[in-house]
Amino acid sequence: MDQPSTLQLAGGLISGKYVAPGGEALTRRTNQIKALLSSRRLPEKGWDERSIRMLIDDLAAMDANNFLGQVGLGEREGRLACPLVINRHYGFAHGIGRSGSLTADQPKAAGSSLVCRLANLLVLDALVTAGLKSTTSALLLPMATGLALQQVFLALRDIRGPEAEYVVWPRVDQKTCFKCITSAGLKPLVVNLQCGSRHNRAGQDNHDDDDDNDELRVTPAGIEAAIERAGGASRVLCVFTTTSCFAPRAPDPVDKIARLCGTLGVPHVINNAYGVQSRQLCRAIDRSWTVGRVDAVVQSTDKNFMVPVGGAIVCSGGKGYVGQVDVVHKVSERFPGRASGSNHLDILMTLLWMGKQGWIERLEKREKMMGYLTQKLTLCAERLGERILKTPSNPISLGMTLASLVRPEEGEGGRDKGRRRGGDPVTMLGSMLFRRNVSGTRVVGRGGTINLGAECVFENYGAHIDERGIPYLTAAAALGLEEEEVDVFVERLEKTFRKLTRFERPAVPDS
Ligand SMILES: *Cc1c(COP(=O)(O)O)cnc(C)c1O
Repeated sequence: MDQPSTLQLAGGLISGKYVAPGGEALTRRTNQIKALLSSRRLPEKGWDERSIRMLIDDLAAMDANNFLGQVGLGEREGRLACPLVINRHYGFAHGIGRSGSLTADQPKAAGSSLVCRLANLLVLDALVTAGLKSTTSALLLPMATGLALQQVFLALRDIRGPEAEYVVWPRVDQKTCFKCITSAGLKPLVVNLQCGSRHNRAGQDNHDDDDDNDELRVTPAGIEAAIERAGGASRVLCVFTTTSCFAPRAPDPVDKIARLCGTLGVPHVINNAYGVQSRQLCRAIDRSWTVGRVDAVVQSTDKNFMVPVGGAIVCSGGKGYVGQVDVVHKVSERFPGRASGSNHLDILMTLLWMGKQGWIERLEKREKMMGYLTQKLTLCAERLGERILKTPSNPISLGMTLASLVRPEEGEGGRDKGRRRGGDPVTMLGSMLFRRNVSGTRVVGRGGTINLGAECVFENYGAHIDERGIPYLTAAAALGLEEEEVDVFVERLEKTFRKLTRFERPAVPDS
């Protein structure tokens, strides 16, 4: 005889006809879990919290530290002391990976291992959905973007050998981008950017669509020259390009550079920090790894998936290269030891909660918000007698000039700070906005000179280019931004700006 089921036993306590619908409700939830385990993709519709909780609780119960009657005599038994910590981690304690690799299954922790595997699979599906259509492998790393990039460089170093010590890098004024190169024991070879309009005026060969603009961009010819400067392809570990960046810097032309790297046999790593949220950037990368060489693409989890800082994704795709070692796999394999599983859990829960539809909705909303921010800021700039920097190829970040905050006697690039009361108005705008609870905007004025070591001195740091121009302010339309935030931002910006210009020009009568 079969044992009675839980529901049959429940039917012995209360009326069976009431138990049935309750049982069906449970079955619907377990079917969701079954569908996830068999499809290995994002659920079409997001799950409710109860379903996510059910899955997570079941998975945690599959780890030995939560077994009933378990005795542990080892040195890593996943014992947790504080109940708050147990709650924060849903009882998970074993993390991810083993000495073998970051994705290796853990004998004592089937649940944690499943969290790790599922998170990687859903991340892959989310990347494909966002527009990185031909992604073939994706690895979630328990570290943020900079450190993940360093791991990619170290993996490439294992493959390329010690002679390849240069990283050819179009300038981005974000210290992490520089430090991920030097902390891997490599030498950055900086490629300077050119300004769209100035570039044009110089009468150089320009085949790009819109040249009369403010964009700072690198040319494939500049990359090629840098590879020569390094002493040829064998001396170059990789070309390290960037897609998502602050205006007026333009995303690097990754497809053209991929072609060049393919021809020259030089690896190519793309820093796509917050680019997953842009269809345009995803498309450019997807094109790149079909037409040329891309060894790895790195993106942040917090900037793209609305989870706390701590994770990054390394991915690759397209046709791959004949004889090319899978860098993504290499990164996982060479990782020393175990790591926190918190990022995997955050991503898994978030992606289940959003579902494919919710993910697509958020991505589409962001594209709309970029339009909204552009429109609102353009009107604001007109009212203030300023203009929006023309940066048509940057799909996330915008710049607005701050010409009226430049003190007349200083002119462009003047150095005599603080001659009047209150300091430099351009700098003040930044701190005043910050004090008015506006975060994320950057004010770029007269950047200083900075020495980041490795024989690299940057002039005008913060502006991506040595030449000093008109100061400007940047703002970004990132995932999750709301209309209301844009409205309030524009209002506070305008008010603050007017306050500063009034203070600056109290006694100058109109001509
Ligand atoms: C955020 C960012 C980084 C640094 O990322 P971390 O996640 O802080 O390591 C590097 N490059 C770019 C372009 C970024 O936007």
